[in-house]
Amino acid sequence: MVGLCTDLLHTCTTFGRVMNLKPDTAPTAHFRRQHLSTEALEKLAETAVETNLSKGTVLSVWMPMKKFKLTDGTSLTAENCKKWGAYFLKHRREEFEELQKLYAAVWDDLVYFPAGKEITYEDSWMFERSYGGKRRHEGCDLMPPENESGVYPIFSMTDGIVENIGWLDKGGWRIGIRSPHGGYFYYAHLSDYASGFQVGQKIHAGDIIGYMGDTGYGPEGTRGKFDVHLHLGIYVRTEKHPEISVNPYWILRSLESRRLTYHLSEP
Ligand SMILES: [Zn+2]
Repeated sequence: MVGLCTDLLHTCTTFGRVMNLKPDTAPTAHFRRQHLSTEALEKLAETAVETNLSKGTVLSVWMPMKKFKLTDGTSLTAENCKKWGAYFLKHRREEFEELQKLYAAVWDDLVYFPAGKEITYEDSWMFERSYGGKRRHEGCDLMPPENESGVYPIFSMTDGIVENIGWLDKGGWRIGIRSPHGGYFYYAHLSDYASGFQVGQKIHAGDIIGYMGDTGYGPEGTRGKFDVHLHLGIYVRTEKHPEISVNPYWILRSLESRRLTYHLSEP
C-alpha cells in the first residue's frame, strides 16, 4: 500500500509538471520531440488495436508514463495503458485532455506517407539553418534519388482543408493543410502545384498536392538555391500559441508501409 501511495503521489506531482498546470502554456519539449523508436512504433500500433484507442490517445497516456517511469522499464501494455489513462482522466482531467488533443492533432489523421518509395529522409529537426537569420530547422527534409525538379509527386498525408497556399520567401511554393483533428501539415519548396488549389478547399489523404522542387530562399520564383527536396513541417496550435513545431521524423517512420506508388500516365 505504501508503494502504491508513493507511486501515485509521484505520478500526481510529476504529471502535473509535465502537463504544465498553468492553463495553455506551450507544449513541452518532450511533446515537441515526438521521440519514438522502431520498437515503440510497433508497440504503439499493437496497443492501439488492443485497446481500441487512437494512436494519439495511447501516446498521451504512454509518453507521461515513460517519461516519469510509472511502469517498470518502458513496457506498454493494453492493461497499463487503460489503468494510467483512467488515472490521468480522474486526477488531471483538464491537462490530460489538452495533451490528448495535441497528440490527436499530430497522429490521428495520418493516412499516407507524403512521397513515393524512392524518397529518403533523416532526422534533422532543430538542426541549424541560416537563411533569413540564424534559426532552427522546423521540419524534416525528404530527398529524391535525383536532383530533378517537378517529377516526384507529393501526396497529402491527411484529409484536410487548404489553409495557406502561395509563395513564402523561406518556403518557396508551399501549401499548408489543416487536418480534422487540428494538425497543420506544411509542404514546402514545391516546383509547382498539382492543381489550382484555393484556401478553404477540401483535400483528401493521398491527393497529389504538387511536385518536389527547389523553390524558395528569395523573392517569388527563386529556384535552385539548394537541392530538390520536400520540406515537411508539422505544427499544432493552442489558444496562445498558433504555431508549435513538432518533429515529423517518427511520424514519417510510422507511415513507411503507407507509401503510395505513382504512375505517370501516357500523354
Ligand atoms: Zn527543411
